Amino acid sequence: MVPPRNRCGICFAKSEDFVDLPEIGTLKNFTVTNYIISERKIRIRKDGVIVGLVQLDGADTAMIVPIINVNGEDIREEMKVKVVWANNPMGRPQDIQGFEPFGGV
Ligand SMILES: [Zn+2]
Repeated sequence: MVPPRNRCGICFAKSEDFVDLPEIGTLKNFTVTNYIISERKIRIRKDGVIVGLVQLDGADTAMIVPIINVNGEDIREEMKVKVVWANNPMGRPQDIQGFEPFGGV
């Protein structure tokens, strides 16, 4: 759904074997920040947002994504989370609105 990188970010080898991953993953770490994630520029908002490192089940690496639909006091490392898609997915990274707790907090 989200376009994967076509080259390895470390050795620049062309990526050829793509693997479908589930929408479920593990929250490896998280923080609360006033900075908004954007590839183009930094913006600051008054209320904090939760940003987490999510490793999808079966993946070797984690990705930085917004953690949504959860209160800060209910969040913990190693909790299972599920992707929340944008309302109108367009095949771009922003299609991932964020991840929310999955299977009970
Ligand atoms: Zn490589």
